[in-house]
Amino acid sequence: MGQARVLAVVETTGGEARPASLELFGAGRTLADRLGGELVALVVGSGVQMVAELAGALGADRVLVADDPALGEPVAARAARAVEAAISAADPELVLLPATTLGRDVAPLLAGRLRAAHLVNCTRIEIDDEAVVATRPVYQDKLLTTVRAPRGRRVFITVRSGAFAAPEPQASRLVPVEPLAVSFTEADRLVTVTRLVEKPKGQTNLESAPIVVVGGRGVGSAENFRLVEELAAAIDGAVGCTRAVSDLGWRPHYEQIGQTGKNVRPKLYLGVGVSGAVQHTVGMRGSDTIVVINRDPNAPLVKMADFAIIGDLFEIVPRLAKRLREVRGKA
Ligand SMILES: Cc1cc2nc3c(=O)[nH]c(=O)nc-3n(C[C@H](O)[C@H](O)[C@H](O)COP(=O)(O)OP(=O)(O)OC[C@H]3O[C@@H](n4cnc5c(N)ncnc54)[C@H](O)[C@@H]3O)c2cc1C
Repeated sequence: MGQARVLAVVETTGGEARPASLELFGAGRTLADRLGGELVALVVGSGVQMVAELAGALGADRVLVADDPALGEPVAARAARAVEAAISAADPELVLLPATTLGRDVAPLLAGRLRAAHLVNCTRIEIDDEAVVATRPVYQDKLLTTVRAPRGRRVFITVRSGAFAAPEPQASRLVPVEPLAVSFTEADRLVTVTRLVEKPKGQTNLESAPIVVVGGRGVGSAENFRLVEELAAAIDGAVGCTRAVSDLGWRPHYEQIGQTGKNVRPKLYLGVGVSGAVQHTVGMRGSDTIVVINRDPNAPLVKMADFAIIGDLFEIVPRLAKRLREVRGKA
């Protein structure tokens, strides 16, 4: 295997990088340095030149761009052709993909086709002279397993969203961007996307939001979530919820955080009427600062928090939102 030791596959949608792809650069740069080789980025999609520049700014040494209308649709067979072409061009030892729906399809497809190893949904990746060693949560995050793939063979790794932080882009970092030609077979075009359902416009992406305000069952009803929305708006945060709340139909399922929902690691997590069940905290424990409003001083999330306000959320939240609006000139 050549000088390019790590290939990071950047998935795009509508010409923009998926946030989980950007986190690959956090893991990829460290691994490439450890291996003494290049970090090569592959940007896959249609109309994605801007993403290619971003990949350079995030730490890639070289950027390959598979820009083709056929890659504008998230179809695994076609994305796999692009990754295969990049592997031929860069000859990497490790191939990192986000553990998105598409990444989880492409990685095993290619690992099988290329007789390579595959480490799935990893939250930590290390490498020594003999093996790539990764950590992967299993049984709905109840256990962490350590998995190994021997060196000397190519290894595909899907990286769990939220496990690594995306580096800060350095605008001055300019790296070569090379177009990559991809050819498709007739079979690659058999599957087409007939409909994409977009989230309502104006909604902040929970997984990349620096501030997340989460409402739990303590909020009491769908109508009462107006309080959580107002608090989030006062600090430009995204609204999230617990499973108790999405199961009750108070908020949409895509706002759910935790084991069976999304992973978030914002700079500020603010939990309102959330108890802090382990199935919830696995999805937010990487947050930089955790603040909680709860009337129960013994709630697990209160114990885990950096700051806790003990009291009735119906008294605290409106006053806090009002004060924050004043302080931030939004009153
Ligand atoms: C297989 C499995 C997977 C799961 N996956 C997830 C997941 O992905 N995400 C998730 O969130 N959960 C998940 N759960 C559910 C999880 O176990 C908890 O039931 C859930 O997280 C509890 O949600 P909650 O904190 O909103 O509600 P509760 O546990 O009911 O907590 C409500 C909190 O609000 C406080 N409160 C009530 N009224 C007020 C008030 N007026 N003022 C201040 N505080 C108040 C209470 O003191 C309490 O601490 C899963 C469970 C299972 C079995």
